Order: sequence, then C-alpha cells, then structure tokens
Amino acid sequence: MNIVLFGPPGAGKGTQSALLVEHLKMVQISTGDLFRAAIKNQTDLGKKAKEFMDKGQLVPDAIVIDMVAEALDKNSGSSFILDGFPRTVVQARALLEMLDRKSLKVGKAVFLEVPSDELLARLTSRRVCKDCGATFNLIGMPSKKAGICDNCGGQLIQRDDDKEEVIKTRLKTYEEST
Ligand code: AMP
Repeated sequence: MNIVLFGPPGAGKGTQSALLVEHLKMVQISTGDLFRAAIKNQTDLGKKAKEFMDKGQLVPDAIVIDMVAEALDKNSGSSFILDGFPRTVVQARALLEMLDRKSLKVGKAVFLEVPSDELLARLTSRRVCKDCGATFNLIGMPSKKAGICDNCGGQLIQRDDDKEEVIKTRLKTYEEST
C-alpha cells in the first residue's frame, strides 16, 4: 500500500517515514531530502531549489513535479511513502495523473496534526547529521553523545531553514499553500 504523509514542517513526517521504511520495507520519497541531496551535489536542480528553500518558500511546482515523476519512475515496484509531496493543489492534481498513468493508487493519506507553538519548539531544536541525514532533537530525541550522530558518528548541524526567521515563513507558507 502506498502512503502520503501530510502535515506542517516539524510534524514528524520524516521520523514516521523512517519507521515505516524500517518496519514495512517501504521506499521513502521525500522531496525535501531529494532537494537537500541535490544541493549537496551542487547540481543545477539543487542551485535552483536552494534559492527558495533558504527563504522558507516552496520550490516552484513544475520543478517538484518533474523530480517526483523521476523518483516514481526509479522506484522498482515497492510500496512508497510520499513525505512532503504534494504541498499544493497543482501538485496533488499532478500526482493523481502520474499515479493514473502507472495504474497506482494511494491507500492512505495520513495527516499529522501538531499545535503551532510545539512546531516552532521542535524545529528550532532539530539537528540533522551532516553525513547520513538522520534527524535528532535536542529536547525530544537527543543523540547519545552531544553533537554526534548515533548512526554514523557524523557531525550534527542545524538545517539552514530551521533558523527561527525562516521557520516562521515556512509555517506561513504551509498555512497559505498546503
Ligand atoms: P521539508 O524537508 O519537507 O521541510 O522541505 C524543505 C524545503 O524543501 C521546503 O521548505 C521547500 O522549500 C522545499 N520543498 C520540499 N517539498 C516541496 C514541495 N512538495 N513543493 C515545494 N517545495 C518543496
């Protein structure tokens, strides 16, 4: 069964996806992760996406939709979890068309609801591993050794878009567009 996870930034989509991947052997398609990988690899896609991400804005629909279409094409028939897509009505319609073309269906769309003051606290205390991307939280889910990833020993850093000013724009963008 294919799943779509909805919810504001900081609701825990990535955390829940990681659990589903581990326990149900599903494939996670996270648009945020795909963009961060493209930025790390300094591709044209990454350069374009970074302009929007750094400001807490959505990357234009056409760019995201092409990227997801490619990710779905690469997925070799495993059940998938969409994490962070769709985020606009245009994206949702495009998803339906893509799935129709492939005779695929979404079995469940799960909405993770979290109060907004809790989101701000979670996002400002989130830390991610520079190397493997694992996510921790200084308050709710700290690493065993401060600043060090439990999985790979990499350095934990704060995402550029987890700074308070950018978070406020991201939450507003979510309210307005998603
Ligand atoms: P996330 O890791 O899901 O919080 O995404 C980080 C950033 O990537 C967002 O703030 C957007 O700038 C961009 N992004 C991720 N998914 C999408 C999407 N479906 N549509 C537009 N922008 C996206």
